[in-house]
Amino acid sequence: MITSTTGPQPADFADVRATNLAVVLRFVREHAPCSRADIAASTGLNKATVSSLVADLIDRRLVRETGLTENRVGRPATMLVLDGSPYAAIGVEINVDSVSAVATGLAGERLLTWRRSFSAGDSVNQGMAGVGAIVRRVVSRMAKEERQVLGLAVAVPGLVDVQGTVRIAPNLGWRDADIGGDLAKALRDPGFPIQVDNDANLAALAEQRFGAHSGASDLVYLTGEIGVGAGVILDGRLRRGGLGYSGEIGHVQLDPEGPECHCGRRGCLEAMAGIGAVLQSKDPSPAEIQVEIEEVVRLARAGDPGTVATLDSVGANLGKGVSILVNLLNPEVLILGGYYVPLAPWLLPAIQEELADRVIAAEAGGCQVVASTLGHDAAALGGAARVLDSIDSGRLPGGFARIP
Ligand SMILES: [Zn+2]
Repeated sequence: MITSTTGPQPADFADVRATNLAVVLRFVREHAPCSRADIAASTGLNKATVSSLVADLIDRRLVRETGLTENRVGRPATMLVLDGSPYAAIGVEINVDSVSAVATGLAGERLLTWRRSFSAGDSVNQGMAGVGAIVRRVVSRMAKEERQVLGLAVAVPGLVDVQGTVRIAPNLGWRDADIGGDLAKALRDPGFPIQVDNDANLAALAEQRFGAHSGASDLVYLTGEIGVGAGVILDGRLRRGGLGYSGEIGHVQLDPEGPECHCGRRGCLEAMAGIGAVLQSKDPSPAEIQVEIEEVVRLARAGDPGTVATLDSVGANLGKGVSILVNLLNPEVLILGGYYVPLAPWLLPAIQEELADRVIAAEAGGCQVVASTLGHDAAALGGAARVLDSIDSGRLPGGFARIP
């Protein structure tokens, strides 16, 4: 995912220090306000080391002291909180008809949320010219606010390999595209890392960091865009598989006699429970989907029998797919995203029924199926989350810190 990768390095002093800086930074993120003594007591690092690490984090303006003191017996302690005021993390999501951009601060606070219409054009170059223009404006906005960009991660609806190359993005018509390289050129080597990942993967990271079930260590996010894909977090980590192609639940075949899928096969989950199935159109026009889904919601609310029956059948098909994920992965929570969110009240009962029938563990193995609360730019927000994850794992701005 990192375009400027470093090979394995022998562990040396700088690596140990970078790791320890990251440990302290994560502790402050999770427990602020906290004192140096709290950090030492919880991390097992000695007090002198903690003081030196905190001084370094303060120098980098990642952490700052507050005037607060802890209310406890003995000498009052200076409390620490996240700073991050000179930094920004950027996430961008490329959709079939729009590009979303999100910038957050170090603590995840939103600095900017933009959505612009977009056309993938006749070639990757044409499409990326549009994306590059938007990214340049976000970067210059951050520069105006005197924020240094920590990194940029771009979400693409398609297969993205572990090097960040877009192998196939069928709905954009892109193949074997090094869009991270294209963006670096468009930004004239901006001096921050650019990562590229699948949209479901990044949306899952957004849920893990910012969603209603943040902190869940076993979580699956299911995209409900024109395509259907899963982002899988197990044991607290995003799971990509060998080449990065995991999570393609949309092309699991539910019915060999089913409708034709964009992939050329028949009866895939995406063809039977994607937005096309909801709208009963194989190729819904991207520009019209939002309006058409609103109309479906209106009809369903009014109790229109045809609409309710369609949503019930789509929900049942979705439930078959969800059951496969739940039997295989046993997530704590499975989150429906995209256009599934407004339809969730009508989809969920049928999904629950299928889970009860098909999951071998009692109570669906404890899995809750819920609608996302993050909205349509979840994958863009996940791009920012991915940048913050890099910082939390030791890729700190400024100075010598490096993590292989
Ligand atoms: Zn398919």
